[in-house]
Amino acid sequence: MNTSVKKFINHVKQKNKGEKEFIQSVAEVSESVIPYIASHTKYDQTKILERMIEPERVIMFRVPWLNDQGEVEVNRGYRVQMNSAIGPYKGGLRFSPTVNLSILKFLAFEQVFKNSLTGLPLGAGKGGADFDPRGRSDNEVMKFCQSFMTELHKHVGEDMDIPAGDIGVGKREIGYLFGQYKRIKGEFTGVITGKGSEWGGSHIRPEATGYGLVYFVEEILKKHNKSLKGKKIAVSGAGNVAQYAAEKCIEQGAKVITLSDSKGTVYNPKGISVEELEFIKDLKNKRGELKDFAKKYAYDFLEGEKPWGIKCDIALPNATQNELNEEDAQKLVENDCFCVAEGANMPCTPEAIAIFNEYNVFYAPGKAANAGGVAVSGLEMSQNSLRYSWTRNEVDSKLRQIMQEIHQICVKYGKEKDYINYEKGANVGGFVRIADAMLAQGLV
Ligand code: GLU
Repeated sequence: MNTSVKKFINHVKQKNKGEKEFIQSVAEVSESVIPYIASHTKYDQTKILERMIEPERVIMFRVPWLNDQGEVEVNRGYRVQMNSAIGPYKGGLRFSPTVNLSILKFLAFEQVFKNSLTGLPLGAGKGGADFDPRGRSDNEVMKFCQSFMTELHKHVGEDMDIPAGDIGVGKREIGYLFGQYKRIKGEFTGVITGKGSEWGGSHIRPEATGYGLVYFVEEILKKHNKSLKGKKIAVSGAGNVAQYAAEKCIEQGAKVITLSDSKGTVYNPKGISVEELEFIKDLKNKRGELKDFAKKYAYDFLEGEKPWGIKCDIALPNATQNELNEEDAQKLVENDCFCVAEGANMPCTPEAIAIFNEYNVFYAPGKAANAGGVAVSGLEMSQNSLRYSWTRNEVDSKLRQIMQEIHQICVKYGKEKDYINYEKGANVGGFVRIADAMLAQGLV
């Protein structure tokens, strides 16, 4: 690590004590962006990176609600409004007991670069609560969402801040959140994305992150004269991103050999079929577990294990941050895995990424590879403003085009002598657009 990067990271550590994930995400970006800034003094003199790591605003609030037993429960809600240089704040809400300020700041910081890469007018934010919807009744989830939105509505709006889903926030939660916002404001607006397609949502939004991820992988493969056909893909996760990434891989002739959830991994060397995937989608909709799928279809279930020990050509980590560590990366490399593309946000640890770089594995960071979700959220906002809706095919072809353009940006800014550094390409490419907008708008 060069000395100015080290110095900067130390300063970030001092200022954000104990915020492990946030510091990790800033360090990852700084390693590629600081050397770029060094040769572009306009960004240096105006302290653009120092300004970018400071959220424009953080909102933290109490969320009191009554459970089914009539008892009072209290959670903590957040919205990190990170950057509005290129558009209103935009990014998901995460409901999980693991949520804290460090995790939401890291997610909001990643979102700045991701949203910039989409080419759409989307600023960046992230929010959520330390509430666990798992094991809660629909009624409890509704009560929680209503209390959460009763405070959040003061800080969001179609031209101000537009939340969406993330881990623990799906169709059901989006419905309750939107309903409460509409009731308080008396307005039907595009304040939130991921809405049902019958009430203002966009076609392809549920599929977008997973499909977009596979479109991005196809671009990488095309660039290197390869294709998805016949490739063995290890997928982690079994939620929205994993399901639709798997669907698109199968459609393109690849074999999806694993899926996983918090209890373990299902494995089939022949590849999961379309019918089996439909069963899994249905099961997960009903909040079931992969273990039940394995039992019904006589699949191997690797209790408590992640998919990374299994021989594959391509790995798609789609579960959560830091799910793929150094040891996992080592196993993937030993098993000749040649491409890792992140459907989740920051699923690979810095040590894992270092191994991929050392062994020339194509490594596609989440801020580029999983930008399809927020991109189609951006298209949902456009359709809401137009009071119109595009067909599935129209949205899908715009999504594909956006992923192709993100790939081109990565190539432009990440091209080294004999290879493409996708990590650097995504970081620098994302940075330049934001930095130029911030420069144009003065010291704000
Ligand atoms: N939570 C998703 C992400 O990490 C989607 C955000 C959105 O659609 O606004 O990008």
